[in-house]
Amino acid sequence: MDCDCGGALLDGKSSYRVSKKYFSLIIDNIPAHKCTRCDKVLFDEDTVDKIQKLVNLIERDTKEIATRTMSSNLYDY
Ligand SMILES: [Zn+2]
Repeated sequence: MDCDCGGALLDGKSSYRVSKKYFSLIIDNIPAHKCTRCDKVLFDEDTVDKIQKLVNLIERDTKEIATRTMSSNLYDY
């Protein structure tokens, strides 16, 4: 497997950053391929697929939390 630039790809670990409207997510130590020439990091399609599913899941739940209306019933303990 080679990079678009023609450089060789080395197996390694990298982190994946996602920035969405309601949250930011950084996943560390993901197996990745790094280009020795241009430093571009490539992830396996399968890995990206899994991360994307995770992001969609978190996005749905955080949106629900972020957009929820404050309850007018405050409980005093
Ligand atoms: Zn490259």
